[in-house]
Amino acid sequence: MAPYTAAITHRMDRVARMDKLLVSVSQLAVAQAEQSIEACQGCSIYAAVPFSTVLHSFRSYRADQVELILPVLAHCPRCRGVVDEGTLVKPKRQPGQAPPTGQAPPR
Ligand SMILES: [Zn+2]
Repeated sequence: MAPYTAAITHRMDRVARMDKLLVSVSQLAVAQAEQSIEACQGCSIYAAVPFSTVLHSFRSYRADQVELILPVLAHCPRCRGVVDEGTLVKPKRQPGQAPPTGQAPPR
């Protein structure tokens, strides 16, 4: 690959990243999201949704438009493990909302 192509690719990559809005969520939003999860990847094999996706459900932004920053770390209600925006979690079932993975969690 010619060097200039790599440079252009690199720049486009940076622009694509800058296109995202950095959003610092409120502590309240973290607390709300924490309450809407049931387990994390450390204690459940059904944890398949990034915590940031749960946080997004409390906001009007589209997940592919923003990058979330947590002001505080959340904790798993089951094992008290630390949950950050990238931790996979198992959301509780919310009324009027289809399970994000498409497969109904056993209950
Ligand atoms: Zn856990």
